[in-house]
Amino acid sequence: MIVGQQTALFLDYDGTLVDLAATPEAARPPHGLVPLLKGLETALGGAVAILSGRTITDIDQMLAPMKATVGGVHGAEMRVGDGAPERLETSEEMTHIRRLCASLGRSTPGLRVEDKGQAIAVHYRAVPEAEQQVGKALQAALATSRDLELIQGKMVYEVRRPGMHKGAVLQRLMQRPPFRDRIPLMIGDDRTDEDAFAMALHLGGSAIKVGEGTTIARSRLPDPLAVRQALERAVESMKDNQ
Ligand SMILES: [Mg+2]
Repeated sequence: MIVGQQTALFLDYDGTLVDLAATPEAARPPHGLVPLLKGLETALGGAVAILSGRTITDIDQMLAPMKATVGGVHGAEMRVGDGAPERLETSEEMTHIRRLCASLGRSTPGLRVEDKGQAIAVHYRAVPEAEQQVGKALQAALATSRDLELIQGKMVYEVRRPGMHKGAVLQRLMQRPPFRDRIPLMIGDDRTDEDAFAMALHLGGSAIKVGEGTTIARSRLPDPLAVRQALERAVESMKDNQ
């Protein structure tokens, strides 16, 4: 079994709990996801968190009326349960990048610019041929930046602050109840999840990579359906052991 009663469970959302959709807005939760997450929270004493590039607001809308613990925007935002959200300061250089991304969005139909306040994502899923052009423009703009970095995920570029990553937010959550003194497990599908994999392993925990691709995780699951099924089985098994 992948999850035990001492686990602190960290879950990416898109591509891990739900299938990747053509647009981020289309990634509606499948039937049964919210009850599954609630079942996990009950079984793990609340030690379940969604670590996503999405904002907390966005995750809340997906999971409504549930208020999950969320590390949002790669850790720039964090909220434990229904507590108050905590946010990192935003960078001044971000204003320049915001303008550049807005103009890229206007000049390339199909490109979608998502302003998360603390980070900006440029989604090219609908126009994959724009990958190079967008990447070059962003790389050039960030060539001299000390405050910001460019990362590439699945069909998305994202500009964010260095040190703002899922590993950092996993570490912060692990210092607090109800996560503290538990064993972390991170499940994710994308390059941005590798930071959280590294931190979970560093803290004596484990990591599961969803799908193909290079990873430091030592286990894999094929797709979000397999993740949900494995978690369902874990909830059932923890119920039986109580
Ligand atoms: Mg993902």
